[in-house]
Amino acid sequence: MTPELAHDLKASVRTIPDYPKPGIMFRDITTLLGDPRSFRRAVDELVQPWAGSKIDKVAGIEARGFIIGGAIAHQVSSGFVPIRKKGKLPHTCVSMSYALEYGTDIIEMHADALVRGERVILVDDLIATGGTAEGAIKLLRQVGAEVVAACFIIDLPELGGADKIRAMGVPVRTLIGFEGH
Ligand code: AMP
Repeated sequence: MTPELAHDLKASVRTIPDYPKPGIMFRDITTLLGDPRSFRRAVDELVQPWAGSKIDKVAGIEARGFIIGGAIAHQVSSGFVPIRKKGKLPHTCVSMSYALEYGTDIIEMHADALVRGERVILVDDLIATGGTAEGAIKLLRQVGAEVVAACFIIDLPELGGADKIRAMGVPVRTLIGFEGH
């Protein structure tokens, strides 16, 4: 990705200080999504390394991962699998607990959403501590899927999430980084 494109993408993200609580710099991608050029370029750039390879499914994490993941699935001609907070999916689910800043939460996926050996790319808007993505990868591996990569528009490198996911043996692609939390 060119430095110009990275600069334009970064400029299209809106930062809201102290949301949802004091000390958090919320990186709001609705402004990126609302800009036709930024949205298209972000999707194109995220999947670029896997453009020629066979991808069976894209798994998106609720809720912003649905928007980006849906667009990526269309781009690579794959199916789409939603990973949601506990209690939202209607059919039989597999569940995984994952670490939050304080405590834990549970994410779920339909048990029949993927079959053993399918190649999947995991997508979310942003990786911070990596707890959510780690839980999602465990969930995908639990049903025997091969997690080919994890893609995020934004990295918060100080929180170490991308390194945590790489240590699980999953290549990570991010497009832009922001300092701090
Ligand atoms: P983590 O599990 O710590 O990697 O957190 C990642 C999830 O929390 C993603 O679904 C993000 O959308 C959300 N998130 C965490 N920190 C921020 C932030 N500073 N701005 C916007 N979203 C965030």
